[in-house]
Amino acid sequence: MPAPTDSQIPPCAICLQPLSLDELNLNRRWHFDCEQCSVCKQSMSGAVAMIEKCLADGKPIAHSVCANVAAIQQFRETGIIQNSQLLDAMNEELLIYRYVVAPPTSDIELLRGHLIKVQEYAATVSEMLRTAQVKIKIHAIQDEAVVYKEKKTKERKEKTEKAETEQRTAERSAMLAAERKTPWLRDRRKSIESLAGLPGWTWDLAEKAIDDKTRASGKDPQTGEAIQ
Ligand SMILES: [Zn+2]
Ligand SMILES: [Zn+2]
Repeated sequence: MPAPTDSQIPPCAICLQPLSLDELNLNRRWHFDCEQCSVCKQSMSGAVAMIEKCLADGKPIAHSVCANVAAIQQFRETGIIQNSQLLDAMNEELLIYRYVVAPPTSDIELLRGHLIKVQEYAATVSEMLRTAQVKIKIHAIQDEAVVYKEKKTKERKEKTEKAETEQRTAERSAMLAAERKTPWLRDRRKSIESLAGLPGWTWDLAEKAIDDKTRASGKDPQTGEAIQ
């Protein structure tokens, strides 16, 4: 089998430089020399699972304890929480302090200060959510109020129309009853109706004209009987 050329040799998964033929023949994915903790510089020979996890997470190769120490050190220097891993690291560190007689208070104070800030952010987010919910509620109530008002207006209109129809029906019934009793009234109404239907006439004008004419002929407009 011919020796693979440089371009065919896969790179080290850690430093990305080509592997040696020895390492390739051993089916290694990274250099022997690269198996080193980036924090404590100690060998991580044999810690394959840990190295694979660091590679998968896209983090520098390091012991988990060393990674925590580095994250906390960075936090002490910058005062910035880069990711949730730091909070986990701080928490782990604080848990260890429980067994220490005189724990260093500076880290605890540092973390406490940040947690208070995070608490304030949480309160702000909570308040924003509450405000949004109240706004949504107000909109819903306003919509309901509009619907209720429209419903009531419609009901009132229908009620008025019904009452007017009933009144007109009652008036018409009374009128027809009166006309049955006094047939003269029916003739009077028919005369007024035909005159009021002509252009330029109103009901009132026609009524007055017909009644005047009746009176002129010596009759009572409401009975048709001769005026004594
Ligand atoms: Zn390497
Ligand atoms: Zn280490």
